Amino acid sequence: MQARRSRVIVLSVVLATVGALIPLAVMGYASWKLAINKELRVLDEAGKDAIARARFTFADARKALVDMEASGAARCSPAHLALMRTLTINTPSVEEIGYFDNGKLKCTSWGLTEGDIGKARVDYVTPDGVEVTLRIQPAVTHAKPMVALHLGSHNVLVTPSRFVDVGLPPDVSLALTNSTGLLIDGKNSPDVAFARRHLEQKADGIDGSDMFATVADGGLAAVVTEPVTKVYSRLRGELLLLLPAGLFIAAFIVGIVVYFSRRRLSPRGELEIGIHKREFLVHYQPIVELSTGVCVGAEALVRWKWPSGTMVRPDLFIPLAEETGLITAITDQVVDGVISDLGRTLEQDRSLHVAINISADDIKTGRFLDMVSLKLKKTGIRNEQIWFEATERGFIDIDAARISLDRARKAGHSVAIDDFGTGYSSLQYLQGLPMDALKIDKSFVDTIGKGTATSAVTSHIIEMAKELGLFTVAEGVETEEQASYLREHGVTFGQGWLFSKPLTAADFIKFHAASVARYGRAAEVIRVAA
Ligand code: C2E
Ligand code: CA
Ligand code: CA
Repeated sequence: MQARRSRVIVLSVVLATVGALIPLAVMGYASWKLAINKELRVLDEAGKDAIARARFTFADARKALVDMEASGAARCSPAHLALMRTLTINTPSVEEIGYFDNGKLKCTSWGLTEGDIGKARVDYVTPDGVEVTLRIQPAVTHAKPMVALHLGSHNVLVTPSRFVDVGLPPDVSLALTNSTGLLIDGKNSPDVAFARRHLEQKADGIDGSDMFATVADGGLAAVVTEPVTKVYSRLRGELLLLLPAGLFIAAFIVGIVVYFSRRRLSPRGELEIGIHKREFLVHYQPIVELSTGVCVGAEALVRWKWPSGTMVRPDLFIPLAEETGLITAITDQVVDGVISDLGRTLEQDRSLHVAINISADDIKTGRFLDMVSLKLKKTGIRNEQIWFEATERGFIDIDAARISLDRARKAGHSVAIDDFGTGYSSLQYLQGLPMDALKIDKSFVDTIGKGTATSAVTSHIIEMAKELGLFTVAEGVETEEQASYLREHGVTFGQGWLFSKPLTAADFIKFHAASVARYGRAAEVIRVAA
């Protein structure tokens, strides 16, 4: 029992711990995931903004090129140069426009070109046919490196930062590339190798100490990166929302575990388990005929055998079992025990009987009768060999009791009133009940020979039983003096330590065999007809 309890306690602690940790871990993980997803979405938006900005710049510059190509002005004429200047001024992203003939720069928005300046190598061509040269050194102004866009025989120079002209916090970096990963420009010094690596996977996520989002659209790609640590402030916010829910669920689970383990560890829970594991067995206390000493039967006394081997006396669990309604399940196990323990013995000696204690619940419902008749049907035991003992507690609903007892007797069982005289009901109250025997309680037997007031009651009870045509069984007979007094007063049967303590089934079978060897069998099964 102790081992079983510790097992339950250990299991409960484990369950409660796991049950508390899982929701907390789930909420922690969910907060982390949510925080990261929200942060990645912000990066993704920044990437989309950057690409939109770059596309606008490309479109703006291309429009200038298309306008130049469409112009009818003679190339490098004052009108042609004037158009170049106007478009340079009116197109915000364009810094300079140039005209090429046969691969040589002839004139720019600054005027006619001197010297031999060739067309720069082309790094790549955009989907709409613009040749792009990244980082070209302007030949005319010698300003900082520019991006050259070439269409037909014109080109424009664009400051690279025009392509990434978006607002970003200082710890967020941006790399803008073409679709093959050539860097057009970056912001906040991006790690280009890192950007290229992730561009190929076109994914968002975390790599090392950085988190990144990639966006690709219209021949352009953007990789936006920031340190993972930035997610922490967001994580705090998510945890603040989700952790209370996790704590609530954890507390709920712990509560449930505590509730069930307490219930399981409660006496009622122990009893339920004991019933479930069929830990109830039966001991048998011989009942002898006082005049001859012949063993005529036994009272079945239930014992609860704990796994530790401890044998628990019924006084300790019958009241709880009656209170909780578990008693009927115990009655079932007692009947099963009697059948398997003494079935053969009862078949071999028809004068032998077993008295089974029936609970108040059993009597009220009469349920035990159906149960017993069902179980006995499969055996050679006769109904006459099974007696029932009922206490006054079972007669509170006197009409129901009358019906049950009547049914029992009609089926051939004998019925005895147990603990008679200890309750409040008078014999007059009980005399209307169909019954066969009175069990004189031990407290009355104890007074025999003591000359007290109650000792007079004992002889009185015996007399009344006789008048009512009931036979009597005296309980708790411990001395020869008590036995001879009872014998002299015409009590038929006795039960008590003088004859035998309650025995295991095997010991009772031996006791009975010895009795048969010594005295022979009892004359017949006692049955006083109603
Ligand atoms: P009870 O029906 O009055 O059973 C007699 C009790 O007196 C038994 O105790 C028995 O061991 C004890 N006893 C018998 N002879 C002597 C004696 O000479 N001296 C002394 N000091 N005691 C003696 P037990 O087995 O502990 O049973 C206690 C009570 O538990 C029973 O009282 C009965 O009310 C209840 N009980 C036992 N088995 C069952 C059962 O299967 N179903 C139900 N509902 N109640 C049961
Ligand atoms: Ca009894
Ligand atoms: Ca009794």
